[in-house]
Amino acid sequence: MLNFKNKLPYIEDVSLNDVIKVCQTPFYIYSQSVIIQKVEITKKFLGKNIFFSVKSNSNQAILKLMQSLNIGADVVSIGELKRSLSAGFSPKKIIFEGVGKSKNDLIYAIKKNIRLINVESIEEIKILQKLAFEQNKDVDIGVRLNPNIDGGTISKISTGKKTDKFGIELYEIDNIINLISNCKNLNLIGISCHIGSQISNIDAYKNTFIEMKKAADKFSSSGINIKHVDLGGGFHIQYNKNDPKFKIEEVKKELDNCFGQSEYELSFEPGRFLVAEAGILITSIINTKNNGGINYLIVDAGMNTLVRPAMYNAHHNITVLNNQSLKSQTYTVAGPICESSDVFIKDINLPEQNIDDILLIEDTGAYGKVMSSTYNSRALPSEVLINKGDFAIIFNPEKIENDINKDVIPNWL
Ligand code: PLP
Repeated sequence: MLNFKNKLPYIEDVSLNDVIKVCQTPFYIYSQSVIIQKVEITKKFLGKNIFFSVKSNSNQAILKLMQSLNIGADVVSIGELKRSLSAGFSPKKIIFEGVGKSKNDLIYAIKKNIRLINVESIEEIKILQKLAFEQNKDVDIGVRLNPNIDGGTISKISTGKKTDKFGIELYEIDNIINLISNCKNLNLIGISCHIGSQISNIDAYKNTFIEMKKAADKFSSSGINIKHVDLGGGFHIQYNKNDPKFKIEEVKKELDNCFGQSEYELSFEPGRFLVAEAGILITSIINTKNNGGINYLIVDAGMNTLVRPAMYNAHHNITVLNNQSLKSQTYTVAGPICESSDVFIKDINLPEQNIDDILLIEDTGAYGKVMSSTYNSRALPSEVLINKGDFAIIFNPEKIENDINKDVIPNWL
């Protein structure tokens, strides 16, 4: 994503140094053209019904960009639903799922007439029927199924095994069919699934498609007209050169093999695949030190800015802006947070770096800023969007003082 003109770093046609002059590190920077390319590839192979998983990057500028590319929104909380509406998505382009929707969340979604509310339990169907009846509304719903498929990803982001908390197990389909015939206010028109994230194993997609086709046919043959079959997200990206290669063409092949002759409207809900590679986290070196023979570069981004390495042991490649030095060093790059898990990468070879030099943490457009926090009372990072020769700051964090001022000290203290 980074390119050099006269030895100066650029993203698209914007000089990174110009952005650094006006935006304090740490900040996320996204390339609009990379997002557009990823959306185009996804649509080319998987069709036009793509619903961006808002949890991966919920900045409203990114959501607006997705709309301009004719992408819908897949939301998993009332906050994401409100954000997507605020960013201008038509309610009819929004799918609401999530294992824990409160009654108030459901009432809000019913009132907004969104495309589909995907329920994740038998109990939720009953609650939704009661609320729809009270609101005197007919509501289009889908059921998220749990196909009991191991996508081969790490357990923290696996969602499709029967012991995971998500979706309704396939053996419950008969119960759903019986129940729904008594739910006069609910139109069951869709099924969905999502077996996890970072899935590269094509057999996992194939097996999921087979189970979902069987499920759709079972509903249809019992008189429930399933129009939409949503096959989830989870497409793999290569964070590391040694990661398995994922080819979306192969997903398309399995999709055609399984659903080729059917009339279901197929949809997908990718997040990471559309935005991860479009983002870089820009961070400054604030200190250098050697402890126990380890050369530490201490940077101003921490696990509060990008939690994936600390939380999932995730790998993000790190590159340098200052590559003048001919001498290379082995470094461990760590953040400023008071936790030993606040380390981005160990034993990386980089040209010699100094205090105030800038490091680039790559492939951070998904599950980066959205998972950031003010842990250790540090401010959130800014976000910047690049579009050819233009750039805009698309998230301006509050000063930490404003956060501090939200605490209320009770009058007995
Ligand atoms: N759909 C649902 C229900 C999810 O929970 C997620 C994230 O795990 C996604 C879609 C998107 O996943 P990914 O970003 O891996 O494509």
